[in-house]
Amino acid sequence: MAGNITFTMIKPYAVKNGKAGSIIAKIIESGFRIIAMKLTHLSKADAEYFYSIHKGRPFYESLVDFMSSGPVFVAILEKENAVADYRKIIGNTDPKKAEEGTIRKLFAESVQANAVHGSDSDENAEWESNYFFSHRERFPAKS
Ligand code: ADP
Ligand code: MG
Repeated sequence: MAGNITFTMIKPYAVKNGKAGSIIAKIIESGFRIIAMKLTHLSKADAEYFYSIHKGRPFYESLVDFMSSGPVFVAILEKENAVADYRKIIGNTDPKKAEEGTIRKLFAESVQANAVHGSDSDENAEWESNYFFSHRERFPAKS
């Protein structure tokens, strides 16, 4: 079913600071099913590839260093309208602009260390999920 999954990453600073449990609880309470999840680490090459769309922007190098600076939780989330609904609960890229109660408002440190990644389209949700997870690591509701 198109549109029912999104991909998320709990970024290094949030993991390092013990926020992963609270973020995962918030995700589940918001009606998302975790259908795949693991702790992993992005190499510099992984981070460069993952954020290649931002190559050339002033924050790119620093973002790549940050994203490869420590372990991250990666996960596939299932829900109707997953991409848009997840973007809603994570809030604005800049935590200062994020709405009260959103994950970034609650747990982000800065615009770079903004606690979580969330896919921006169904196409990217598929691509990002496939980059990190094999099919045997997924437990969708209707499998
Ligand atoms: P989002 O994660 O909300 O989709 P973008 O795709 O625009 O945001 O940016 C990817 C990531 O790059 C952001 O989550 C953030 O970590 C980082 N980033 C974006 N803009 C900036 C900026 N102006 N300064 C530092 N880091 C930034
Ligand atoms: Mg983005």
